[in-house]
Amino acid sequence: MNKKDEMLKKYARLAVKTGVNIQKGQYLVIMSPIECAPFTRMISEIAYDEGAKDVIIHWNDEISTKIKFLKAPEEIFEVMPQWQVDSYLYYAREGAAFLSIAASNPELMKDVNPARISKSQKTRQLALKEFNQRLMTNKNAWSIVSIPTVGWSTKVFPEVSESEAVEKLWDSIFNIVRVDKEDPVKAWDEHKNNLKKSMEFLNSNNLKALHYKNSIGTDLTIELPENHLWVGGAEYTAEGVEFIANMPTEEVFSMPKKTGVNGTVVSSKPLNYGGNLIDNFSFTFKQGRIVDFKAEKGLDTLKHLVETDEGSHYLGEVALVPYDSPISNSGIIFFNTLYDENASCHLAIGKAYSSCIKNGENMSEEELEEAGANNSLAHVDFMIGTPDLEITGIKQDGSKVPVFKNGNWAY
Ligand code: ZN
Ligand code: ZN
Repeated sequence: MNKKDEMLKKYARLAVKTGVNIQKGQYLVIMSPIECAPFTRMISEIAYDEGAKDVIIHWNDEISTKIKFLKAPEEIFEVMPQWQVDSYLYYAREGAAFLSIAASNPELMKDVNPARISKSQKTRQLALKEFNQRLMTNKNAWSIVSIPTVGWSTKVFPEVSESEAVEKLWDSIFNIVRVDKEDPVKAWDEHKNNLKKSMEFLNSNNLKALHYKNSIGTDLTIELPENHLWVGGAEYTAEGVEFIANMPTEEVFSMPKKTGVNGTVVSSKPLNYGGNLIDNFSFTFKQGRIVDFKAEKGLDTLKHLVETDEGSHYLGEVALVPYDSPISNSGIIFFNTLYDENASCHLAIGKAYSSCIKNGENMSEEELEEAGANNSLAHVDFMIGTPDLEITGIKQDGSKVPVFKNGNWAY
C-alpha cells in the first residue's frame, strides 16, 4: 500500500470508529457525492468489517442538482415524495448511524435563482423534520467528514493546477483531522480531553451572559438561559454510544437565550449556503430577534435564509473556538462550514441543540421553548471570530470574568 492509500484507510477508519462509532448489527447510512465514491466504498468495507448489518448509500451529484435547478418546472421544488423521506426515516427509526460527506463546490449554484434553492431547502427541511430532529437530539449517532473534490479544491487553491489543488487540500485535511498522527484514534482522545477543560471552565462559571467586542464592528450581548450547558467533542446517544458529530471539531458550544440577544455582530469569514457565498455581512438583534441585516455579497441568499421561518430570525447556537487553532493556523479559508466554523468563534441562526440545556433531550418542543431555546427548520452557522475578539463573561451576581482575550481563551 502506498502512503496515500494508507492515510485514506486511516481516515476512513477514523470516520467509522471515532466518528459514527458503528455498533455490531447496526445500519450505516452514508450521504456521499459521486466524486467521493472510492473513499465511500472504503468506509463501507470497514463498516461491514466492524459488524454493520448493512450500509446504505445515498449518492448525490451536485451537477445534476444544478441542472434540475436551472431546468425543472417550479412545482417540483415544492414536493419531497414520502418514499424519499422514508429512505432516511426508516433507517433512523431502526437505529442507524448517519455519515455525511460534505464536499460541495462553494459557488456551483451562483447562476441559479436563490429563491428556487431556498424553496427546495425549505421543502426538504419540512419533510425531513422528524429525521433532522432525531439527529439534533442525538437519537441516532451521526457524523460529518469532508474529502476534496476538484470543484471545492480549486476554489480553495485557485493558483495551482487542479490535481495540485486536490493534493494540497488532502494534505490540509489529513493534518487537521489528525490522520497524519501515528495513532489518530488516540490523538482524538487527547483532543476530546482538551475540549473538556474549556467546557468545565464555562460550566463551572455558570455565566448569565457573554459580551462580544472587536474592531470590525461587533458589539453584542448574548444572554444564556438558566440550566444551559456547554458541550463539545464527544456526544452520546440515548443508549450511551459515544460519537463525534463533526470531524474536525474545535468548538465548545451552548444555546443563547432566545430573547436575550442584543447588539450587532459582523461576520469574519464568507458563508457557503446552498451553493452560494454570502460575504461581509452583519446582523443587528433586539431582544433576540434580527431587526436588521446587511451583506456586501449574497444579500438575496441571506434574506432567504433569515426568512425561512419565524425561528430563523433568532439564534440557536453560541460556539467558542480559539483563533489559535489548527484550522485557523493553516491560514486557509475553506468555503466549507464544517472547516470554517471550527476555525472561528461562530453563532448559528435557527434551531438550538437540546443537549445544551440540562435534561433537554427529554423535553418536548414546548418545554424547550419555555426553557429559552429557539426552534426553527433552519440551523446555519456563521463565523465571527477575529484575532482581536474580546469576550467577557457576566456572572449571575453581575461580576465579570474574561473568557476570550485577543481571540483566544483568557483562562
Ligand atoms: Zn457549531
Ligand atoms: Zn451549528
